[in-house]
Amino acid sequence: MAQPTIEDKQIEQFEATLHGDLIRPDDADYDDARAVWNGMIDKYPELIARCRGAADVIQAVEFARETDLPVAVRGGGHNVAGTAVCDDGLVIDLSEMRGVWVDPDAQRAWVQGGATWADVDHETQSFGLATPGGVVSDTGVAGLTLGGGIGHLRCKYGLTSDNLVSVDLVTADGEFLTASEEENEELFWGLRGGGGNFGVVTGFEFDLHPVGPDVATCLVFYHGDDLADVLSAYREYVDSASREVSTLVFAGELPDEELFGADVLYEPKFAIMGCHSGGVEVGTGELAPLRGLADPLADFSGVMPYADFQRILDEDYPDGMRYYWKSLYLDGITESAIDRITYWADAAPSPLSTVDIWQIGGAITDIGVEESAFAGRHAPYLLGVEANWEDPQMDSANVEWVRDCLDDMRQFSDGSVYLNFPGFLEDNDETMETTFGATYERLSALKNEYDPTNLFSLNQNIKPTT
Ligand SMILES: Cc1cc2nc3c(=O)[nH]c(=O)nc-3n(C[C@H](O)[C@H](O)[C@H](O)COP(=O)(O)OP(=O)(O)OC[C@H]3O[C@@H](n4cnc5c(N)ncnc54)[C@H](O)[C@@H]3O)c2cc1C
Repeated sequence: MAQPTIEDKQIEQFEATLHGDLIRPDDADYDDARAVWNGMIDKYPELIARCRGAADVIQAVEFARETDLPVAVRGGGHNVAGTAVCDDGLVIDLSEMRGVWVDPDAQRAWVQGGATWADVDHETQSFGLATPGGVVSDTGVAGLTLGGGIGHLRCKYGLTSDNLVSVDLVTADGEFLTASEEENEELFWGLRGGGGNFGVVTGFEFDLHPVGPDVATCLVFYHGDDLADVLSAYREYVDSASREVSTLVFAGELPDEELFGADVLYEPKFAIMGCHSGGVEVGTGELAPLRGLADPLADFSGVMPYADFQRILDEDYPDGMRYYWKSLYLDGITESAIDRITYWADAAPSPLSTVDIWQIGGAITDIGVEESAFAGRHAPYLLGVEANWEDPQMDSANVEWVRDCLDDMRQFSDGSVYLNFPGFLEDNDETMETTFGATYERLSALKNEYDPTNLFSLNQNIKPTT
């Protein structure tokens, strides 16, 4: 479809309304501004509006509506599908809106829509407080929260979105609204799991909990030959663990020269990672069984600051590398599921890729499935299939590995997925309907109300029916 032509004058008038910069293709910082975390994404927007506050966001939404430009909304820029940028459209970029304010007495944090988890942990941990975030610190708060949010505190304190108190956003008609349990309740329901479909979030208010500053952690590496036996034992451990424990397993080659000698560098391996959100002594004791499920190749478990643990995986996911990630909720990790996980971990074309198993449960299941839009409370585990590679010539082999793995693993699943690991959104409509089921209609009704023309369509999209 041909894009509408926008007069320079119109752009200048728009620019004059902004406090932040408006970046265009000829500007020196254009290439930096259009780059996102995933090096597979190479989009050329017409304009990038670096918003400084809600007023800029309102102006940007109004300009997009008037000009009919496609719109992308950027928080932390970490969505694997690269939905934070678009070709020939307007990027509403909140990456300069990273303020975080903490009220330690009320145990609340106010977080701007472009903040990362590093920003949040930095401020909240100064008071020994935290809200559940993601496991890599430079991921954006906005995209992660709107899609649900699973991190190291999930079994004790639930999803990130379960900890929302209120959300400030600019809707498609340029209106600034607050959504909470007390006002715009249906919108608040939809924002907790329905993604970026209903507007541009300028601020989140989160509940905080006492965590750390030191926590007991587990990060133990085993040889791939032990995967089947260890996962069986791990499953039993998880079934009886306290809610303070949240863990995940990742399997692959994990060829880290600093961690492993030449004898095992390219051998299959896996790690069990997690933390205990209670006291360090009891936590160390409770995590101890995970460290002795076989002979470890390496064990970095121990007591450390929670904020450091939140950053421990950062260097494994550098900006600009090539990524393709998808997911599937699993009914359980049965012997036959473990057998297939072992197969797919070994079959990865890239040594940097992993098959991940996230423990779900605890506080996540305290919230009724109808209390928020999030659609993944029913399953005990989430399978993440992460292709991570460097060579562009290996693109199709890596993408195919992820898709083939998911096709095979569907036998252990109802087919629903975690929307924050969306591949390239190639099967959006089917995925959304399978994942949300009957809830999809309720989300569509909300979309009709707040974004009937689908201005916010570059996302895990809920289609309006108007
Ligand atoms: C290295 C890495 C680690 C991850 N770890 C975890 C994890 O531990 N737990 C987990 O749950 N997920 C995790 N994820 C997935 C993550 O939740 C998603 O990639 C999420 O989309 C990232 O949010 P972002 O703001 O950085 O994304 P962006 O790419 O900036 O945005 C993605 C989408 O979110 C929406 N959006 C962003 N900002 C706003 C806003 N201000 N208002 C309205 N809509 C907005 C838009 O629809 C946008 O297209 C991880 C991803 C990466 C890359």
